[in-house]
Amino acid sequence: MTIREEQIMGCPSCGHKQKVGFYQAINVKLNPELKERLFRGELNLYKCEKCGNRAVVDLVFLYHDADKHFCVQYCPFDLVAQRSDKLSNMYTVEGKLNIPANIRLPETAHYMYEPHIVLSLDEMIRYVQFREALYEKHADKKKWH
Ligand SMILES: [Zn+2]
Repeated sequence: MTIREEQIMGCPSCGHKQKVGFYQAINVKLNPELKERLFRGELNLYKCEKCGNRAVVDLVFLYHDADKHFCVQYCPFDLVAQRSDKLSNMYTVEGKLNIPANIRLPETAHYMYEPHIVLSLDEMIRYVQFREALYEKHADKKKWH
């Protein structure tokens, strides 16, 4: 599932307020173009209509590849540095995503209970490439099809 949310945000440079759409989760099976945008550094990019300022907005988001059966959760390092409550609400003490007990996934989607966690977007992009390389090499051994 791809989750997009719209917010009114002030430009960090000139203060101009405008509506912007941000992704909280991307499913690249359904929306492959969003993977391209992530790799180009254009996902969750704020572009000011007034002064032209561009800045990536540092948000928690989930990358999900339903074809290759993996997901990666980006946790902005600022949450760690600030010892934010959002961080402790999102993750267990074991460093796993805190998924409510009432959410039940089918067995083929159990990998979603434990997304790989990264603390930078560069690391997310590299991890995606890592999993894609493995997928290509093990193409004959995929047991979930
Ligand atoms: Zn501006």
